[in-house]
Amino acid sequence: MKEVYTLEDLRRWPAEQPPLRLAVCGDPVAHSASPQMHNAALAECGIDARYTRLHLRAEEIADAFRLLPAIGFIGVNCTIPHKFAALALVDRADDHARRIGVVNTVVVEGNQLAGYNTDGPGLVRAIRAELGVALRELRVMILGAGGGAGRAIAMQCAIEQCPRITLVNRTREKLNPLVAELGAFFPGENLAATDFETGSIKTQLAQSDLIINCTSLGMKPDEPSPIPGDLIEPRHFLYDTIYTAARTPLLLAGDAAGARGTNGFSMLLHQGALAFEIWFQRDAPLEVMRAALLGPAK
Ligand code: NAP
Repeated sequence: MKEVYTLEDLRRWPAEQPPLRLAVCGDPVAHSASPQMHNAALAECGIDARYTRLHLRAEEIADAFRLLPAIGFIGVNCTIPHKFAALALVDRADDHARRIGVVNTVVVEGNQLAGYNTDGPGLVRAIRAELGVALRELRVMILGAGGGAGRAIAMQCAIEQCPRITLVNRTREKLNPLVAELGAFFPGENLAATDFETGSIKTQLAQSDLIINCTSLGMKPDEPSPIPGDLIEPRHFLYDTIYTAARTPLLLAGDAAGARGTNGFSMLLHQGALAFEIWFQRDAPLEVMRAALLGPAK
């Protein structure tokens, strides 16, 4: 079995035992820890299937999705940068995914594909478990709100009826549709949008309790914190969706400021458990999945 498969591999799909019937699609994707988590869950539940990685470029995702039913796939997860494209490629999406505009979980149903999103609900569970607070009670700042994870989390904040939200994105224009959609949920001053300009970030941080990093900034250890560390106060909670490092640059900045923060491991775990529940209509073995994620990479 290879670590990473491609569109060419999908066209000549290998007959592995147990069969490869689930995957995470992304570009890059080699870093993804989803296979180790899902393969442990599949083994624990006695399901004759394995989960792998598919490296697909943006122009390959449509062809790849078309092949999934024919090669006997159960479903896929989508990560960077395919979550928006996936919505347009599925035959139907549940209300939540459609409202968010982002699909991270696909189920093959006969010859059709159904789309779901488990990132937002996974984050709600993760924040409660790791930070001991309820998302719905917090004023939230989302860094990278224009990306797939950021948008899903912003919409989840609306669904949870959080008291206030600040959307931050490097490319400011990408926030415009989200601001228009969220206006009904966050009236007046309760919705703000900005780029990473330090003065604006400082003003908005004064009215935020929880800072969520949804940018990919920090996936590499030499990258800077997405916001200046000296703006973080001890009262802030930090959630960095990145899970490739235990302490990302943002979390290290939070540590120096005396703020409490955690990385995206818990969101990965809970969104994965929710995806497993969608694919198999049964409870996911959460502790087996957690132990597999904490173990050596496979
Ligand atoms: P995406 O759709 O490609 O979005 C990437 C986001 O990062 C965009 O907002 C982009 O801003 C921003 N960005 C990239 N480089 C930047 C930089 N140098 N400075 C400022 N902003 C920058 O990707 P995604 O799927 O949302 O994933 C984003 C992150 O969330 C990744 O780190 C991923 O690992 C993490 N994630 C974690 C989980 C989990 O379970 N823990 C789940 C989903 C995602 P522009 O719009 O300006 O390009």
